[in-house]
Amino acid sequence: MNHAHFMHAALEQARLGRAEGGIPIGCVLVRDNEIVATGRNRRVQQDSAVLHAEMDALETLGRRPGAWYDDVTLYTTLSPCPMCAGAILLYGIPRVVIGENTSFMGDEAHLTARGVSLTVLDDADCRQAMTEFMRDEPRLWFEDIGR
Ligand SMILES: [Zn+2]
Repeated sequence: MNHAHFMHAALEQARLGRAEGGIPIGCVLVRDNEIVATGRNRRVQQDSAVLHAEMDALETLGRRPGAWYDDVTLYTTLSPCPMCAGAILLYGIPRVVIGENTSFMGDEAHLTARGVSLTVLDDADCRQAMTEFMRDEPRLWFEDIGR
């Protein structure tokens, strides 16, 4: 697994989302060392209540049998919130690689307690994308995390 390569792809999704006027969080799903789905936070673009990057990637992928997810690694630029952590647990995705959890700490304790393997890259580019967004669009950010 080339974490840097796949996280770069997730960050490209984040930047694309920001260029669309959205929230700069991106995600890719990887299986057999290939990207099988990409996603980005599209709450603004789609006027959606639930399209966080992880949800968008899962939805883009579409339906799969449960066991199919056993070989998936989810890359996300930001620590997964409770909704996305719930989806990760629902589908039994065993590995999550996180760009950073400094700007926002998601529900990592819940994932770890349920046996999901977490790797935090502490990626400076992912962190910069979020800190700039939080500074420029605080209301949009708080809305995204339900506050
Ligand atoms: Zn989320």
